[in-house]
Amino acid sequence: MKNQISISALLELLRERDSFVISSHIRPDGDAIGSALALQHLLEAMGKRATVVFVDPIPPNFEFLPGVERVTSRFSKADATIFLECDSIDRGSIDRSEFEAARPALTINIDHHRSGREFADFNWIDPEAAAVGSMIFDLAVAAGVTITRPMADCLYAAILTDTGSFNYASTSATTFAMAEQLLRCGVNASRIAAAIYASNPASKVRLLGIALTNIQIDGVISWSYVTLEEMARVGASVEDCEGVANHLIGISGVEAAAFLREESEPDQFRLSLRSRGTIDVSIVAEHFGGGGHRNASGCSVEGSLAEATGRIVAQLHAAYSPIGAEAVLVDTPTQPSILIA
Ligand code: 5GP
Ligand code: MN
Repeated sequence: MKNQISISALLELLRERDSFVISSHIRPDGDAIGSALALQHLLEAMGKRATVVFVDPIPPNFEFLPGVERVTSRFSKADATIFLECDSIDRGSIDRSEFEAARPALTINIDHHRSGREFADFNWIDPEAAAVGSMIFDLAVAAGVTITRPMADCLYAAILTDTGSFNYASTSATTFAMAEQLLRCGVNASRIAAAIYASNPASKVRLLGIALTNIQIDGVISWSYVTLEEMARVGASVEDCEGVANHLIGISGVEAAAFLREESEPDQFRLSLRSRGTIDVSIVAEHFGGGGHRNASGCSVEGSLAEATGRIVAQLHAAYSPIGAEAVLVDTPTQPSILIA
C-alpha cells in the first residue's frame, strides 16, 4: 500500500500535536473499545489530550474497562481524529455532521483488516496484526511509554476478543508474548475473561437459546437467525446478538457459519460470518458490501429470510475449496450449493 505511514512517522505526527479525538467502528466490539481506550491512555501518558467518541452504546460486558466512563457521544474539535478499525469515515461511530462541523485538521487511520482502505490523511494498516490492540501495544513500546495497568487491561481485552480468545489463525507467538507482558503489567486474565464472557444479561442467554434452536446445517455450512419478534419475546437488544455467531462454528464438520439478525427495516438483515479458516469469510462479506477478516466478518443483506440465507449459503459453499484450489465466487444468488474449484 502506497499511502502508508511507519510507526516512527506516526509517533512524530502524534508528538507534534496536542489534542486528539479517537473513535472506532459502529456497534463497537472488544477490539474497537479496548484499543480506543488504550490509545487514549497512551496519548495521555505522552502529555496529550484525548477524547474517545462512540455514538453507539458500549455493550455492558465492556463497561468495566478503565476509561469507559469518559467515553462521549459528542464529537469535539481537536488537532487530529484517529479512526481505529474503520474502512471509511462512514464506518466510524461518530455523528457525521458534528465531524464535518469540527473540521478536523488531520485524519489518521489505524487498522488491521485485510479489506482496510487508505481513506485518511495518514494510514497505518497491518493485516498481520491480530488486533488493533496489538498495534497500539507496539505504538506504546515504540513511544517508550510505560504500559500502565489501565492501558494493559484495555489492550488485553482487545487482543483476547479479536483473537477469539486466542483461537483464531491470527494468534501467533507474538500474540502470546504480548499477553505475557500485559499479565506482567498486572492484568488479571481470569477476571477480564469473566467480565467479558460470563456477565451476560439473561436476555442475551435466552436469545442465544433461540438462535441455537434455529440452527440449520448444509454440509460444511451452518446458519441461524433471530427475527425481531424473537428478540422482542425475550427482551433482547441488538447488543445481545453480539457473539452468537461464535457458537455456530463449534459444530463438528462445519467450516463456516452465518448468523442473521432481522433489522427494523423490512427485508433487511445484519449478517455475522465465522470460519475455521478453510473458508475466507471476508471475501463473502465483501461480496455483500461489508468486510472483516478470514475468520470473522460481517455485512448487511437484503431480501426475505429465505432469499438472504439462500444467497449467503450459496456464497459460503462457493468459497469452500476442500481440495485447496482457489475458489471462485459465483453470482447465482438462490442456488443452494455451488463449488467451482
Ligand atoms: P461481527 O460479526 O462480530 O459483527 O464482525 C466480525 C468482524 O467483521 C469484525 O472485525 C468487524 O469489524 C467486521 N465487520 C462486521 N461488519 C462489517 C461491515 O459492515 N463492514 C466492514 N468493513 N467490516 C465489518
Ligand atoms: Mn479488530
